[in-house]
Amino acid sequence: MSGLTHIVTATAIYSAGKGKIKTPFLLLLAFLSHFALDSVPHYEFSLFLNYAVSGFALFLLAIWSIVRQDFFYLAAGVLGVIPDANWILGISPLLMKIHSFMHFHKL
Ligand SMILES: [Zn+2]
Repeated sequence: MSGLTHIVTATAIYSAGKGKIKTPFLLLLAFLSHFALDSVPHYEFSLFLNYAVSGFALFLLAIWSIVRQDFFYLAAGVLGVIPDANWILGISPLLMKIHSFMHFHKL
């Protein structure tokens, strides 16, 4: 799944629940949305295109967070895409295993 999809979904979860649901729970949902989306069969962008689009989306989200004076928008977006970043960087082997398990597998 593209990083943009993860960022938009995670941010939408935070935005929809803001003021109605506790922020830590919304951020947890934003993070967990990554695995739900990745379990759906999908095509992948090239790595370069995915990073370029995701980086630009996070840049715009940072501006949005500054304008709205609410950095949880950016936090939600980053949390939504962290498993993919970890897949590349290999920081957490446990998260990598969970991500690989939840990601759909081409037949
Ligand atoms: Zn992923």
